[in-house]
Amino acid sequence: MITLALSKGRIFDETLPLLAAAGIEVLEDPEKSRKLILPTSQPEVRVVLVRATDVPTYVEYGGADLGVTGKDVLIEHGANQDGSPRGTGLYQPLDLQIAKCHMAVAAPAGFDYARAVRQGSRITVATKYTAIAREFFADKGVHVDLIKLYGSMELAPLTGMADAIVDLVSTGKTLKANNLVEVEHIMGISAQLVVNQAALKLKTAPIRRIIDAFAAAAPQAEKL
Ligand code: ATP
Ligand code: MG
Repeated sequence: MITLALSKGRIFDETLPLLAAAGIEVLEDPEKSRKLILPTSQPEVRVVLVRATDVPTYVEYGGADLGVTGKDVLIEHGANQDGSPRGTGLYQPLDLQIAKCHMAVAAPAGFDYARAVRQGSRITVATKYTAIAREFFADKGVHVDLIKLYGSMELAPLTGMADAIVDLVSTGKTLKANNLVEVEHIMGISAQLVVNQAALKLKTAPIRRIIDAFAAAAPQAEKL
């Protein structure tokens, strides 16, 4: 049995065409079914639905043989800033170039971020992505107090809890709706294929088939 970990939403939706290219059709719609294990048209392949941030954990500990997860999630899980693994037993063969967005610093239109940075002021930044934020501001030499949040980062500056946020941006609509402006582009984010290294050794042929089919089907996939 080959188990693929996916999260509902854009990762699931954008992985479906890649699975189709590998001849794998998911037989249930996760938006309609309450099942967490979804059978596929290949009896030897199943999909498990997990929280986006749990995908690397499932793959690392062998709950899944492979998974698709954002570079943001991987870095926060314990990879280097370039996304390469830091001894987590995760093999990352492909950047699938799907679920694309970027990590950014955003602040209220009235906050003079450039001046705060220039003057070396301490700034308070709310984010779910504390590893990325810590390294980004450390590299810039900016003194930062980080506040860890788990959702709706946009609210933090609006309530006066933080000066700025570090969050994922795709269209920028959420920032705009909350009177925030992007003040720094931190890094591009896309979804990566991650594979459990032990599983790859034990089930080389079926896992390789999936990796190769994904590489062929993801038009701009980059071999890592
Ligand atoms: P949850 O919704 O369970 O709290 P999540 O918000 O991390 O988790 P999704 O919103 O499904 O999960 O995002 C999954 C991945 O999709 C992210 O980790 C990121 O790599 C990618 N992504 C692409 N665009 C965006 C965006 N605009 N906002 C958030 N994530 C995005
Ligand atoms: Mg979400």
